[in-house]
Amino acid sequence: MNTNNYRFSLLKIISLPIQALFLVLCLVSGLRAQTLPLTENLINFNSIEGEELLIESQARQDYFPLSIQFVTQRNGAYCGVASIVMVLNALSIPAPETPEFGRYNTFTQNNFFNAKARQVITPEVVSRQGMTLEELGKLLESYPVTAEVHHGGDVTLEEFRNLVVKNLQEANNFVLVNYLRKTIGQERGGHISPVAAYSEETDRFLILDVSRYKYPPVWVKAEQLWQAIATIDSTSGKTRGFVLVSRR
Ligand code: CA
Repeated sequence: MNTNNYRFSLLKIISLPIQALFLVLCLVSGLRAQTLPLTENLINFNSIEGEELLIESQARQDYFPLSIQFVTQRNGAYCGVASIVMVLNALSIPAPETPEFGRYNTFTQNNFFNAKARQVITPEVVSRQGMTLEELGKLLESYPVTAEVHHGGDVTLEEFRNLVVKNLQEANNFVLVNYLRKTIGQERGGHISPVAAYSEETDRFLILDVSRYKYPPVWVKAEQLWQAIATIDSTSGKTRGFVLVSRR
């Protein structure tokens, strides 16, 4: 046996018990899927029922362009930035330089903040406290898009449903929701994510949750989502809501 073979064999012998130990640890500590359990009012998109709702949906124009751009928020407060990045890429808005991708330009959570966006709120502040609905709208408009902001307290359930469903039936425009997780049975505070589809049969919206490490995409009842956007954001003193985004 030459030295290299000897080292390799030794490594294999040492690594076997380590692998076994790791397997045991995984089984004991449940180190597999990491997302939190869902309450019964929510339908996991990653289930047979969740899949069927999308196939049967008549309002899913936005699902594919958004799913292609689906990203995980970079830190606990970056849900708004991750959601904006998805929408700007889905709208094919000309993106700034992306040094990590060479000559290819795309929006990322690192290059999103241009000079105009920094006048609205800085990335440092967003990293600490997230953003309000108004800031979400203004940040979007740092780029050539129109952001129509609706506060949850200003719309009836019917108005909310109609506006969002109409958008989900149209290509090249998107919906971001700003809601209180607790109201829909999740942990726990204010959150922002894109809405990707509507199920007529069950009256539910599909949220592509950008904190992908925490929850899977879920189908939530329209009424419950409406209640969750009509909650008060203590930072602004106003209700949360939703933003309709299109090219300017
Ligand atoms: Ca749309």
